[in-house]
Amino acid sequence: MAKQKLVVVGNGMAGARAVEEVLSRAGNQFEIVMFGNEPYGNYNRILLSNVLNGSQGADDILINPLDWYAENGVTLHSGELVVDIDRAAKVILTESGKREHYDKLLIATGSRAFIPPMTGAHLANGMLKAGVFGYRTLDDCSAILDYVKRSRRVVTIGGGLLGLEAARAMMVLGAESHIVHLAGHLMEMQLDVAGGAILRKAIEDMGILVHVKKLTTEVLGADKVTGLVFKDGETLDCDMVIVAAGIKPIPSSAFARVLRSSAPSWSMITCARSTTRTSMWSGNALSIAAACTVWSRHCGSRAKSSPTTSPAPTRRPPITVRSSRPS
Ligand SMILES: Cc1cc2nc3c(=O)[nH]c(=O)nc-3n(C[C@H](O)[C@H](O)[C@H](O)COP(=O)(O)OP(=O)(O)OC[C@H]3O[C@@H](n4cnc5c(N)ncnc54)[C@H](O)[C@@H]3O)c2cc1C
Repeated sequence: MAKQKLVVVGNGMAGARAVEEVLSRAGNQFEIVMFGNEPYGNYNRILLSNVLNGSQGADDILINPLDWYAENGVTLHSGELVVDIDRAAKVILTESGKREHYDKLLIATGSRAFIPPMTGAHLANGMLKAGVFGYRTLDDCSAILDYVKRSRRVVTIGGGLLGLEAARAMMVLGAESHIVHLAGHLMEMQLDVAGGAILRKAIEDMGILVHVKKLTTEVLGADKVTGLVFKDGETLDCDMVIVAAGIKPIPSSAFARVLRSSAPSWSMITCARSTTRTSMWSGNALSIAAACTVWSRHCGSRAKSSPTTSPAPTRRPPITVRSSRPS
């Protein structure tokens, strides 16, 4: 039986995990091609704060190093941004001009750091002002680690789990670390007021300064950040800002156009109902995991009649998820 080509856009935690599952259940049925915007193999994003605070190196958090893809017969195009999908021709296109035909397409493009509207956060060219960072990728970590070397006071915007981890890392690295948070207490999505007060004391005891009920309206500085302005008129001088104020889902606008124009026939729900007729899937880590289960059951039942000849993929221990967060 001729192999179908499965193209996976997004080489993050969901995309790579989905591919592992397909390999283990129906590896002989698909030629698998992956596109990832990041220039690495798949890594455990959940452990990024360990890289930031120096307790682990980037290599330590790799789940599927580049060798893994070759060993398992998966073609990975890393550092390639997929910008469009031609649904009629069943082809995806990348920013660098690559085209790849697919029989089945899985979109697992995850999210990016959300930068809330703040005057002066971006330069005229749309890039973040020097000293202002989102926090989502290994590249973000590298850039933060580089910039903090020449920073005295670092402000982290966002007092959720991610912000707390980032602020602690800045403290560990020797900066004067501040957290600026919109709500009245830290981690207000998870904790009540009393819990928030206990947490705040623990954070302050570490030496991190906490500012609550602060809406940041402006990032000061011509070419690089020199301070923040809040809605109440107060200001805070700083050399560096890490924004940990939530995430914004990708797909990019090009994808969004395609997805908007698509009939619901390719959605996760339909995928679960009618696996055989669906040729596109998308979703976050959770929904892709669910879809993979449904899909691989389907593949598994077909595999029974056509025994697998491909090598078993390298198994790895399950990822330890330290806390529950929306993806
Ligand atoms: C520091 C940190 C700590 C976290 N801690 C926890 C935790 O404790 N518990 C928890 O449950 N969750 C945690 N999360 C969230 C968790 O990492 C995400 O839920 C998970 O990574 C989502 O997986 P994903 O594959 O959907 O997206 P991602 O891991 O974001 O992967 C998507 C990939 O797709 C690529 N991509 C996007 N668009 C394109 C395109 N057009 N072309 C090619 N490639 C593209 C991106 O570059 C990225 O590599 C944490 C996140 C961070 C940043």
